[in-house]
Amino acid sequence: MTRPTVLICAGHDPSGGAGIQADIEAVAALGGHATTVITTLTDQDTSDVHATLTVDDTFFTRAVGTLCADMPPTAIKTGVLASVAQIERVCAIKHAHPDAPLVVDPVLAAAGGGRLADDSIGYALVRRLMPAADLVTPNLLEARRLTDADAGAETCAHELAKLGTSALVTGGDTDDAVSVLVTPAGDVTHFHHEQLAGGPFHGSGCTLASAIATQLAHGQPLNAAVESAAAYVHACLARADCPGHGQPLPERIQSC
Ligand code: PLP
Repeated sequence: MTRPTVLICAGHDPSGGAGIQADIEAVAALGGHATTVITTLTDQDTSDVHATLTVDDTFFTRAVGTLCADMPPTAIKTGVLASVAQIERVCAIKHAHPDAPLVVDPVLAAAGGGRLADDSIGYALVRRLMPAADLVTPNLLEARRLTDADAGAETCAHELAKLGTSALVTGGDTDDAVSVLVTPAGDVTHFHHEQLAGGPFHGSGCTLASAIATQLAHGQPLNAAVESAAAYVHACLARADCPGHGQPLPERIQSC
């Protein structure tokens, strides 16, 4: 049987903790095949992003077209999108492959605080990409920036779901690690996880979004996909190690 293809459009993190490498490892560990088009290169270590270099729009557009003509995606996952043209290209791919669930991880900044997207990207994500998405997976800080509100996770998720996508807002203000999922119909599900010491973990958001995209590509319904992906991420974080001087990196290769 052929593995489902998960198209990833995301940035490269040379530390191997986040970005496209995190995505490839998560997709592979869960039995999918990752096809990858890089949006931006970063100068980065396990502490922070120090500089970025956006991939040329014409080249990005062309590479996505070449790939999808050969290997149509079963699911699509985005991480850092570094230009409005890249966002428009992903919208076009979703339009051409409407049955492929689109999972948007709206990466705006690294855990160390380094910016990975400016306000024009945030605006295009909200106005253009999120209405085409099946699921968006911001953490609470990203959700607040995207909704321009100083609200809690559930309120932010409701705001994002008004765009027509399901919204999973991860993390919260309490000690308990809770993620809240709100669908466009207004259905709410809370996912409770054990809070692991030693965080923040570099690449945990990328790992979660890619794991969900892979489970959706396997045909799992949304809530089951989130639940099984969260269990996988928890196992990756529980065995995280610290090969650098900054944040711990999830160990994604052994599936649970
Ligand atoms: N994508 C890239 C290329 C990154 O460099 C980073 C963070 O440093 C992220 C995504 C976000 O990582 P996380 O999953 O920790 O939010």
